[in-house]
Amino acid sequence: MDLQDKSDSLNDVTARLSKMWPKQTQDQLATALVLFGIPFAFLVECGVVLPQWYAVGSDGYNWRVFWLLAFGLTFYANFYKLVTVNPNGPNADLPSVMRPGFKYCHTCQLNAPPRSHHCPVCEKCIFKRDHHCSFGAVCVGHFNHRYFIAGALHIWLCVALVLSWNWWFMWENLGGMRPTNLWMVFMPHLAFMFRFVTLWQFTCTAIFVSSTTVFLFCSYLLGAQIFCIYLGQTRVEFLLNVRAFNIGAWANWKQVMGRRWFLTLLSPFFNSPLDCDGISFPVKEGASIHDSTKSM
Ligand SMILES: [Zn+2]
Ligand SMILES: [Zn+2]
Repeated sequence: MDLQDKSDSLNDVTARLSKMWPKQTQDQLATALVLFGIPFAFLVECGVVLPQWYAVGSDGYNWRVFWLLAFGLTFYANFYKLVTVNPNGPNADLPSVMRPGFKYCHTCQLNAPPRSHHCPVCEKCIFKRDHHCSFGAVCVGHFNHRYFIAGALHIWLCVALVLSWNWWFMWENLGGMRPTNLWMVFMPHLAFMFRFVTLWQFTCTAIFVSSTTVFLFCSYLLGAQIFCIYLGQTRVEFLLNVRAFNIGAWANWKQVMGRRWFLTLLSPFFNSPLDCDGISFPVKEGASIHDSTKSM
């Protein structure tokens, strides 16, 4: 099988999969996870994990629930803004003129500014498009990018906190952290099948393993964002290797988070004006605007 055949059969599989599993279904499942999965996990932590050490209503219990709520509610506030703020801004229409660096979008049949890309799920061109976020069923673009980053940071803080509790919760229920118990963490299903652990111990291990998976995923999300901002690229530009818009790490950060970037990390309801209008962007010294006109 040569390379062309391989890529043809891969395209075939992708086309068949996307018919069986439309992008909208993926969005609905991911959104349901945010709306129902996170509150469920919160109830497990407050009702099952924390009471192992702290009586409900004691200072130790209340402080831990307070921090979890503070980070969790800030996450949901950012999620709300991510979904409701148009990534193309308040005047969301694409300009009708053709300017330097613009490219014609054949799907929208309009002229799209530099850094904008067409989203096949949202079915429109998105200003400074980063990626399509299935969790919010929206595109992350120029005007809602700050909410995505602050949201990712706060959910990461929540999961880091929860993971540290779940680690000790699991070991205490497995009878202590011993090297001889380690295999039960890596193969809890086998340990349960052969009756080395009870259903309760299996559940405690499953709570830890699932929170570790979520933690690794959130770390990837946040890490990838910070890495791309450092390079002055959106996720799309990273894939296309567009380097024309890197104006320095600090300026890149403020371009995404706005002039009052510090406040954006505290609450999404603080105003933090953006210097760019989503249509024109400063380019790196020596780079040309035409370096940006690669498309997917
Ligand atoms: Zn388009
Ligand atoms: Zn989209």
